[in-house]
Amino acid sequence: MKDISRRTLLKGIFATSVVVGFDLTARAWVTQASTGGAFAQLPPLDGTLTTDPASLAAAADDFGHIIHRTPVAVLRPGSVEDIVKLVRFAREHNIRVAGRGKGHTAFGQSQAEAGVVIDMTTLNQIHSVGTDAAVVDAGVVWRDLLLATIPAGLTPPVLTDYTRLTIAGTLSVGGVGGRSYLHGAQVDNVLELQVVTGEGELVTCSESSNPGLFEAALAGLGLCAVIVRATVRLVPARERARTQRFFYPDAPSLLADLRFLVGAERFDHIQGLSVATPGGFAFFIEATSFYTSPAELPANPTGGLSFIPGSQQTEDSTYFEHTDRVVQLIDQLNAAGLGGFPHPWLDLFVPGSKVDDFASRTIASLDASLLLPGSLILFYAFVRSRLKRPLLRVPEEEVFFLFDILRTIPHEAIEPVIAENRRLYEESRDLGGKCYTISAVPVGHHDWVKHFQPFWGRLVSEKHRHDPDNVLSPGTGVFA
Ligand SMILES: Cc1cc2nc3c(=O)[nH]c(=O)nc-3n(C[C@H](O)[C@H](O)[C@H](O)COP(=O)(O)OP(=O)(O)OC[C@H]3O[C@@H](n4cnc5c(N)ncnc54)[C@H](O)[C@@H]3O)c2cc1C
Repeated sequence: MKDISRRTLLKGIFATSVVVGFDLTARAWVTQASTGGAFAQLPPLDGTLTTDPASLAAAADDFGHIIHRTPVAVLRPGSVEDIVKLVRFAREHNIRVAGRGKGHTAFGQSQAEAGVVIDMTTLNQIHSVGTDAAVVDAGVVWRDLLLATIPAGLTPPVLTDYTRLTIAGTLSVGGVGGRSYLHGAQVDNVLELQVVTGEGELVTCSESSNPGLFEAALAGLGLCAVIVRATVRLVPARERARTQRFFYPDAPSLLADLRFLVGAERFDHIQGLSVATPGGFAFFIEATSFYTSPAELPANPTGGLSFIPGSQQTEDSTYFEHTDRVVQLIDQLNAAGLGGFPHPWLDLFVPGSKVDDFASRTIASLDASLLLPGSLILFYAFVRSRLKRPLLRVPEEEVFFLFDILRTIPHEAIEPVIAENRRLYEESRDLGGKCYTISAVPVGHHDWVKHFQPFWGRLVSEKHRHDPDNVLSPGTGVFA
């Protein structure tokens, strides 16, 4: 049955919104207030399954504010067992289910038209912080994990710029940052997962136990299983962060120094940035050293670099303040009323040999008049041999870059900007690039097959094995 017609049938109007069952004839949820005829009883839950309009509207939106697919119910699990029960129930009754963390993907990835969205943020316990790993629920946000590990002198090796994202949300896409050139992605720093498969089985997986499912879950967009718990690696944290900022006239000169810094491994965290200014785009690198004693700082931080003479700036902060810089920025943008504008973010992994020309042309072609405050271009460097997980698809070259075009735009510009995203996606793909799956770009089944090659066959067999009825992750359109 098509999702849209199923939604019409399922919708029903409920006087109270806590769901107790499912009417098999009307294909409608039954709430406490609407019980009457025969219906399939939902097993008792520790949390709640709700149909209240505010919850449905929130689950039909995401950070992009572009795609809106309304589910028929939202599960707020009170336990892992609730997810097992819901997935089994959904499978039995042909209802689709999506896991959702903070909903910070940009194009409906965490949504489920006429299905059920599982709000994972109610599972948010940090179970343990050991000397080299932490065990956390899927819905814990990285920032809360950091607040627990820093007092113990520990940190996850790789953090996303913004840390108010859930552990399982970033592990379902990859999770990359300014330390990825040294430590890979967040998915490379996971020791074990607990997942609920599309068959409703609770399974523990790792590199040595159920490795196929482990690989399918990491950067796997929730296609085969819902991640419910993760054991993530921790490394010693330094107390402070010193950031050097270097300015450049253009993208190629910035990229040349980023390449140099990848080889030099002089800084703990590196990132290229570009922002629109009244005089055109400004380009700069932020290179950060983490340290406790000043003796740990690089002796000659600027040696070999070719930035604009005299443009260097230095900032010092605590380690936590460094990890929190984008949280502060997003809070400011939200306070200024910019959070509700569309964010058609496009994130492209581009081969190192192609990125200079592609990024220069792309930036020159952007319509700066459409860029609202907070819009940003980012460059992250990667060394391919440090990435191990097959489903995080990246270019073949050993050094490549993530080129992010992070636009905040007026509502009326959505259509042309999404069309432009599609064009840039195709152009980068023709150059050997891959799209980071968080992006706001329309993609169909054939695009996904190409995207996951040469692992498409493996993904399909894991899907058939663990989610044979295609219950999970409708919002991605991978298995439409
Ligand atoms: C301001 C900002 C900054 C960002 N910075 C970075 C960055 O530096 N590096 C980076 O890599 N990314 C970055 N991102 C992107 C971010 O990593 C992804 O959007 C990530 O998926 C968001 O996590 P979330 O908790 O919001 O997940 P959601 O958007 O809720 O979910 C993401 C995907 O995972 C699935 N999913 C969610 N939870 C589960 C689960 N428990 N089990 C299985 N599947 C699940 C969803 O269905 C969806 O397909 C940024 C995003 C924003 C908005």
